[in-house]
Amino acid sequence: ARADIGVVGLAVMGRNLARNLARHGHVVALHNRTRARVGELVERYGDEGEFVAAEDAASFVAALKRPRRVVVMVKAGTGTDAAIEELLPHLEEGDIVVDGGNAHFEDTRRRERDLRERGLHFVGTGVSGGEEGALLGPSIMPGGSRESYDALGPILESIAVDVDGTPCCTYVGPDGAGHFVKMVHNGIEYADMQLIGEAYDLLRQGLGMEPSDLAKVFAEWNEGDLESFLIETTATVLAKVDAATGSPLVDVVVDQAEQKGTGRWTVQTALELGVPVTGIAEAVFARSLSGAADQRRAVRDAGSLPGPSGSLSPQEAEGFVDDVRSALYASKVVAYAQGFDMIAAGSEHYGWGIDKGAMATIWRGGCIIRARFLDRIREAYDRDPHLASLLLDDYFAGAVADAQDAWRRVVVAAVRLGVPAPGFSSALAYYDALRRDRLPAALLQGLRDFFGAHTYARVDREGIYHVLWSEDGSEVRQDAEAG
Ligand code: NDP
Repeated sequence: ARADIGVVGLAVMGRNLARNLARHGHVVALHNRTRARVGELVERYGDEGEFVAAEDAASFVAALKRPRRVVVMVKAGTGTDAAIEELLPHLEEGDIVVDGGNAHFEDTRRRERDLRERGLHFVGTGVSGGEEGALLGPSIMPGGSRESYDALGPILESIAVDVDGTPCCTYVGPDGAGHFVKMVHNGIEYADMQLIGEAYDLLRQGLGMEPSDLAKVFAEWNEGDLESFLIETTATVLAKVDAATGSPLVDVVVDQAEQKGTGRWTVQTALELGVPVTGIAEAVFARSLSGAADQRRAVRDAGSLPGPSGSLSPQEAEGFVDDVRSALYASKVVAYAQGFDMIAAGSEHYGWGIDKGAMATIWRGGCIIRARFLDRIREAYDRDPHLASLLLDDYFAGAVADAQDAWRRVVVAAVRLGVPAPGFSSALAYYDALRRDRLPAALLQGLRDFFGAHTYARVDREGIYHVLWSEDGSEVRQDAEAG
């Protein structure tokens, strides 16, 4: 046996990961359900490194040094289960199976449990960066046992992208932790893109700017605090002119956003955990609304839902670009704060012990949300690993405080213009709710006690209370201490 690692599944992601591994000096065994893909890879890229083309699962496993390290990179779901089933009879105690596909973390927990019972390590791993990242350096988020990371980590770190001398790969936590973190990463990506979309829409509707001018605005923003892959890409997409029509590309693309499901998973899981990831939820719903083509057409055709006739005053218009930039930054801080709250909640619930600062560190390169901003998040968690909210860190608190007047002006302008800005406005509502001394939840508790005898706690003394609403209206104590 001479291969350091094996890759099963040689579609675009697996092929590029295998090439990346070989380019870094690892001997890579190859296996794919359709065997032709193995030969194609070796034929086209064989000179990039050392590959072992396996005949079948048995010879693939036999080609691997022990403990065997196998990366499964196949279609998530039944594909992953099928690929694992095929390998199992040939693997031995202590071997490591890595799933680099986009699995739901609950599936990863199940697979980890099953393989652990057979004495194998299962490493559910988030891989971000798409096909280019897989080849040139992804951000890698491996879960599973610590022990497996000792054997696997150095190889994964060698192929991950490097930022300031630090690889964007680190041990995340047991069983489903890696895929959970990747899921939240994708959720944050949804929120970030929604906010960018709103900023574009507000500037275009509010100021009547053309996409080519807006491209310059985003390019300029990319020089400051907002510097990120997504802002840079926004400038590129807005500047693109459609060859067939001569129109801006953004004007010929159908305005219905698609989704593969990780944003939805994030929100579903957040609902279970009770974490208010409002930015991600608004982003998922905004995509759903955009996709409701028949309904949108019916409303447009009916012409019966009027909008406002307001426009920006010359004075408002003058500072609007800067205001929108500030609103975008503040809303983005909220979206990331919520995402990190979700990581904290998942880590707590499942006992993963995830280091949030380390997650910010490995997202600085390779992935879609890579940004200068993530350095700030890492610094915040370096200052205080137990930070109750990113919004409490001095830097972010200051940034949001500086932005808040502009943020409020932009939300008011959006309402006056009739431009939907659910991301901006829900982020502001979250911020206001978080900082409020008292919330109307007190009234809700009163209502719940009235119609369901759900009881309430008091601000001034211990205990659980209920009002005898349909009797004499007196208050009674209901907990064990009562009476
Ligand atoms: P696909 O998701 O298109 O999957 C194709 C691969 O899966 C092929 O190798 C195929 O084999 C194999 N496969 C499918 N069903 C089975 C089965 N029942 N048994 C064995 N093998 C099977 O490939 P991608 O490269 O796009 O993605 C691979 C994984 O990486 C997926 O989980 C994806 O979600 C994830 N991912 C993808 C990213 C991307 O940008 N594309 C980014 C990050 C993660 P065959 O050749 O025989 O058909």
